[in-house]
Amino acid sequence: MHYSRMLLPTLKETPAEAELISHKLMLRAGMIRKLAAGIYSYLPIGYRVIRKIENIIRQEMNSAGAQELLLPVLNPAELWRESGRWELYGAELMRLKDRHGRDFCLGPTHEEVITDLVRREVRSYRDLPLNLYQIQTKLRDEIRPRFGIMRAREFIMKDAYSFDCNDHDAQISYQQMYEAYNRIFERCGLTFRVVEADSGSIGGSFSHEFMILADSGEERIAYCPNADYSANVERALAVLPDSLNSGEAPSVLAPLEAVDTPNIKTVDELCAFLSCAPENLVKTLILKADDQIILALVRGDHELNLIKLKNLLSADQLELADADTVMQITNAPVGFAGPVGMNKYRIIADNAVKNMINFITGANKTDTHYINVNWGRDAVCEYADIRVAQAGDLCPKCAAALNFCKGIEVGHIFKLGAKYSKALGAVFLDEAGRQQTIIMGCYGIGVGRTMAAAIEQNYDQNGIIWPVAIAPYHVLIMPLDVDNEQVMQLAEDICQQLESLKIECLLDDRDIRPGIKFKDADLIGIPLRLTIGKRDLKKGLAEIKIRKSGKSDKISPDNVVSYIKNALTLL
Ligand code: ATP
Ligand code: MG
Repeated sequence: MHYSRMLLPTLKETPAEAELISHKLMLRAGMIRKLAAGIYSYLPIGYRVIRKIENIIRQEMNSAGAQELLLPVLNPAELWRESGRWELYGAELMRLKDRHGRDFCLGPTHEEVITDLVRREVRSYRDLPLNLYQIQTKLRDEIRPRFGIMRAREFIMKDAYSFDCNDHDAQISYQQMYEAYNRIFERCGLTFRVVEADSGSIGGSFSHEFMILADSGEERIAYCPNADYSANVERALAVLPDSLNSGEAPSVLAPLEAVDTPNIKTVDELCAFLSCAPENLVKTLILKADDQIILALVRGDHELNLIKLKNLLSADQLELADADTVMQITNAPVGFAGPVGMNKYRIIADNAVKNMINFITGANKTDTHYINVNWGRDAVCEYADIRVAQAGDLCPKCAAALNFCKGIEVGHIFKLGAKYSKALGAVFLDEAGRQQTIIMGCYGIGVGRTMAAAIEQNYDQNGIIWPVAIAPYHVLIMPLDVDNEQVMQLAEDICQQLESLKIECLLDDRDIRPGIKFKDADLIGIPLRLTIGKRDLKKGLAEIKIRKSGKSDKISPDNVVSYIKNALTLL
């Protein structure tokens, strides 16, 4: 391909709208352009990368026995009502009406549509197992679209759905996808970690996320240094060393006492005022779970995990109560809530609170806290793991101290069980002629997000450094003197030879200053650059530079093709 004929509008300046490095570089390298918030066009060079990722996904899905199909983006509301998600999905679901006033939505995911297809077409155990996938545009009205195509409102996803006769077979399908996903991200040349995850609004019994490791990631991962355990902190079990749990605390229960704490609202302020450590405090949060009021208690230095609590309660909605509700329930503004005298509400305390004695809580009275609160005597509650795992917590399998890092979620696999097949009545006849419910799994990869995450992991101050497998081109051929016939002839010749070997080339035939060409080359990040200049050529030399290492070699033009062939296998 000739650069002069391409739509490849590189930018010298970084557009102000971009925060994340991948977003900045994709705009600067002419890969994407914004149409509206969270809605992007993929320009030719960006779309080439998308296609590369899609093809790796396709090959691995096909070889894992999955079949590609394409489902409609436009979904009738009835199907979503059948599954219950028309109401549950909330504002993220893009809804619209047709000319007859019928409700539709734009698919954010396709469990409903695929389950509908399968319930109509599958009759018997002989038709199963099935794994069906598509690579398609998804629409989600994200509350805060950001970071370019990383969190967009319109984005490309590969979504696959497996259908099995029973749990055992469904587990095999899940495992096949788990392995295929590992191969996909390995082949893309990315560093990633597989973690246990929460199932979110998709639902189901358990799931894994595939995280590209990057400091800019929005997800936090807790992992064991011995590789025994890794989980999204949304889900990671919070296990304290015993010494902290039972404590060397005094065993004498001191009398409960109310103390004045005027205008003191935060844990830090309270600790300073009472000269105590956050470990001696218990924070009480008032929440609304669907329509029920819940008091959730965590230690002063711990953070409530809303997802764990929501799962524990099997609630559809869980949110912190507003200031008015807190006032109504505790007779005090936010900051003075506590468990004493609140037994008409459901009180759930984190496990780490269980063995505390003589601790401090709010007194449900303005500017007042209790000291020397003790379980049993002053308040009762139920205990569960409802906090966010943090430094100091232990691996639940081997008790080593957990490590933490950040990642970008690019893939998510779920064991759905009968959640959708039951709601929609997707059944089959087993060998004995009995009707059974199909067991499902679902498996997603964000294609655009994978492209962005690849950049987060592979760049330097000059631009992108593409892994070969997903690079838009393999070789950038750069003739420096475009008016020199010999130079251009050689560039064209080598380009043809390489392309006949399926090595993809971009030939920068623009008649502009070499300095600009070099800058663009680094920015776009093609793995190999071949520079042909008339001065070197007179000496019988051309230069090959590796984008990643910055190493360059001058070799005879006759050896360029074999050199490149070899270099690409080594990168
Ligand atoms: P997140 O927690 O980041 O919102 P999710 O759990 O909602 O993701 P899934 O429903 O599991 O995502 O979707 C499958 C994959 O689609 C994700 O792993 C991610 O790679 C991609 N994806 C999800 N939402 C977006 C988005 N708004 N923009 C780009 N890619 C997305
Ligand atoms: Mg989401």
